Amino acid sequence: MTNTSQTVFPAPDHDHERCANAAIAHAEAHCAARAQRLTPIRRHVLEALLASHKPLGAYEIIEHLAQHGPAQNRPAPITIYRALDFLRDNGLVHRIESRNAFVACGHNHGDNDLVVFLICEKCGAVGEAPDGGAAEALKASARAAGFSPKSPLIEIAGVCSHCRESRSAGV
Ligand SMILES: [Zn+2]
Ligand SMILES: [Zn+2]
Ligand SMILES: [Zn+2]
Repeated sequence: MTNTSQTVFPAPDHDHERCANAAIAHAEAHCAARAQRLTPIRRHVLEALLASHKPLGAYEIIEHLAQHGPAQNRPAPITIYRALDFLRDNGLVHRIESRNAFVACGHNHGDNDLVVFLICEKCGAVGEAPDGGAAEALKASARAAGFSPKSPLIEIAGVCSHCRESRSAGV
């Protein structure tokens, strides 16, 4: 197994608490550097998304906060959408269009970087792959068509390395 596949799809038995804490620490530092406030609701939405490596829809986030949030009440959808807009504007959350769901991002990539999502159809985990130079080629062909590319997002569905291994082991 290469390092890349480990970081893109953490092993099922990895220390996820550490993983989630690192992402929260990244979000705090990132907001402080941009003079933005990671308010309690924004933080709670991010924590809900960091509960696993699977994307959550807005209503799943509401359910999560209703059950695990400090207030134990059901936040209004508009509150959640506003928090998600903030997190997306600050590069801390991405929207997975094909699932109409959101995933936390701990990578410190630029606003215009190409993001390649790898979506596992077996376990539902989503990883972000390095673009491997694809971004420039895609932007160049968009420009050649007279199109002004913004932030390209690519979604690739398939089977992650862990699911592939467990399948070949007959589990
Ligand atoms: Zn993790
Ligand atoms: Zn990202
Ligand atoms: Zn998988």
